[in-house]
Parts: sequence; C-alpha cells; structure tokens
Amino acid sequence: MRQSRRTQRTRTALVAGGAGFLGSHLCETLLQAGYRVICVDNFLTGRMENIISIVDRPRFRLIEQDICRPLDLTEPVDRIFNLACAASPPRYQADPVHTTRTCVIGTLNLLELAAQNSARFLQASTSEVYGDPEQHPQREDYVGHVNCTGPRACYDEGKRTAETLCFDYLRTEMADIRVARIFNTYGPRMDPADGRIVSNLVMQALERRPLTIFGDGLQTRSFCYVSDLVDGLVRLMNIDSNPRQPVNLGNPGEFTVLQLAGLVRDMTHSKSAFKFLPLPQDDPRRRQPDISRAETLLNWSPKVPLRQGLMQTISYFTELEASRSEDRI
Ligand code: NAD
Repeated sequence: MRQSRRTQRTRTALVAGGAGFLGSHLCETLLQAGYRVICVDNFLTGRMENIISIVDRPRFRLIEQDICRPLDLTEPVDRIFNLACAASPPRYQADPVHTTRTCVIGTLNLLELAAQNSARFLQASTSEVYGDPEQHPQREDYVGHVNCTGPRACYDEGKRTAETLCFDYLRTEMADIRVARIFNTYGPRMDPADGRIVSNLVMQALERRPLTIFGDGLQTRSFCYVSDLVDGLVRLMNIDSNPRQPVNLGNPGEFTVLQLAGLVRDMTHSKSAFKFLPLPQDDPRRRQPDISRAETLLNWSPKVPLRQGLMQTISYFTELEASRSEDRI
C-alpha cells in the first residue's frame, strides 16, 4: 500500500488558455489541488501578469503555442481543460476566422490529445450557444436562436461546433468529455480594456468617465464570480459518472444593465453620468441560466453575491490603476 502510494504519479492537467482571466484562476486551483499544470496559451488575450505568481512553481509549465497547431507533448496528461478562445466580443471579432479556427481546429487538436492520452476533457462552452434566447431562463435542452451569418457567429457557431465535436468524441468512445456552458463571469484579472460589461463599467467609474450603457439598459445579464465558476468547472471535471449532456454554470441572479451600472457607480463613489449608445447587432435581450442540472449533478451553486464579488473586482482594478499611474510617474 505504502509502496503504491509512493510510486503514484502526480496527475497532470493541461489548461489551454491558462494565461487568460478564467484559465489563470483555474491553473492556481489545480496547483493547490496537487496537480502538475501545463498551461498552453498563445497570449492573444492572455497576460503574463495573470500567471506571474505561479510561473516559477516547479509543478507549473508554460507552453506558448496556438492550439490551432497540434501539440507535441512528451509527457502524459490526465485532464485537459479547453478554455482557449478570446471571450470578449471586440477581441473575438478582431480576427473572426482565427476565432472559428480556434474553436473548431483547436478543439479538435485537444480532443485528439485527450484520445491519445485517455485523458478526461472539459470544454469551456458558453451561454452564447443559446444566441438571443426565446426561452427564459435558459435550460440546457433549449437548442438556441443563433444568427449564423452575423458578426458574433464566429464565436457562437464556433463554440456550437466545438460542442458537436465533443459529443461526437463521446458517442464514438474516443474521449470522456464534459461541456460547461459558462454564463457571464467576472472578477479580478479581467482585462480592463477588453470591452466586457463589468470591467468596462468599473474602469469608467474609477476613471470618472461616463458609464456607457448599450440600448436602454433594460436588457438583463447574470453575473457569476470567478471563484464560483472555477469550483463548478473542477466539479464537472471530477465527477466520475459522465453527465453526457452540457451543464450550465452561472449565477441565476438576474440584473438589468442599468442596475449593474448603478451598483458600480455607488460602490466606486463615482458621480459619472450614464451615456446611452446603440445596442450592438445580435446583442441578447435576456440572459439567465437555469442551473438545476449543475445543482443536482454537481451539488454546485454560486455562493458569492454580486455586491461582494464587485468589491473584490473594484479593489483589483483600483490597484491596477494605481500601479499603472506609478509606472507613468
Ligand atoms: P480570456 O480571453 O481572458 O482567455 C482566453 C485565453 O485563451 C487567453 O489567455 C488567450 O490568449 C488564449 N487563447 C485564445 N486563442 C487561443 C489559441 N488559438 N491558442 C492558444 N491560446 C489561445 O477569456 P476568459 O474569460 O478567461 O474565457 C475563457 C474561456 O471561457 C473561453 O473559452 C470563453 O469562451 C469561455 N467563457 C468565458 C465567459 C466569461 O464570462 N468569462 C463566459 C462564457 C464562456
């Protein structure tokens, strides 16, 4: 018994997109859980500062590579988390063909790696697979309302195809896959300049600029704090019995964009005015996850209330702002 424990190999998790917002938190959590972690990232939207506290750890390895190229690993992997893909609309629309390639060819490359290693595979999918939903809240059996020719399609349809690939690998018994449909998540290490709603509003409030509201601001969103989301991803990867279905992960608390903007303004003590701009094409009106599947299968539900999560996020952006102004002096 003692002998087998001593010879047991440390399990290895590969995190594609590990230098991004969610990926960097996931890498940290996996290191804490005792994994060796291989982070694969092309630094398209990821940042070295996200992984600066772990990059020199002995159980951490960074491979700077685009997942559209097959990975040539010399060591076995047990778990593959595919988070590689720009998540903010301006970033994934900047090179839409590359976004589709990342979702389709990149996912295929990682699924092949999972098949070769008999590794468990988790795909970071998105609530965007529901498009502009006609059902509310969105359950996993809702097939979606997506415009396949619009500017968001590279991401929405790319992620839908990635799910198709995952379930085909599962059906043909080539890999044990799990699919998390992630809803809007926020927290420290979001890129302040990537145009996502929470980072946008917080940065504008901190810089005393007007808070931009797209449309009338009555469209709704749900906001999940990053630690809750990472906990959900790890649980989904770890359950031994494969759910064989996608699982929504998000916070069901629904807020209008105006409510969020008001909260950010209060919490930052800002006097910024609201500036209303036209709604971008195909922007969903309502977004709220039905998380009953995650509650039942994973015994998971988000714990961090919006106000508390915003407090952490505002402190992160405040420190970031302070360090940038020091650099400017
Ligand atoms: P992010 O942009 O911060 O992270 C994505 C990471 O993937 C970055 O480090 C980027 O450099 C890397 N990357 C992109 N294309 C790559 C490629 N071709 N090869 C290698 N690396 C590549 O985004 P995030 O918010 O951390 O999102 C992570 C994943 O979760 C994404 O797949 C996204 O679609 C999904 N997701 C996120 C949210 C959210 O609210 N944050 C919601 C739904 C889904």
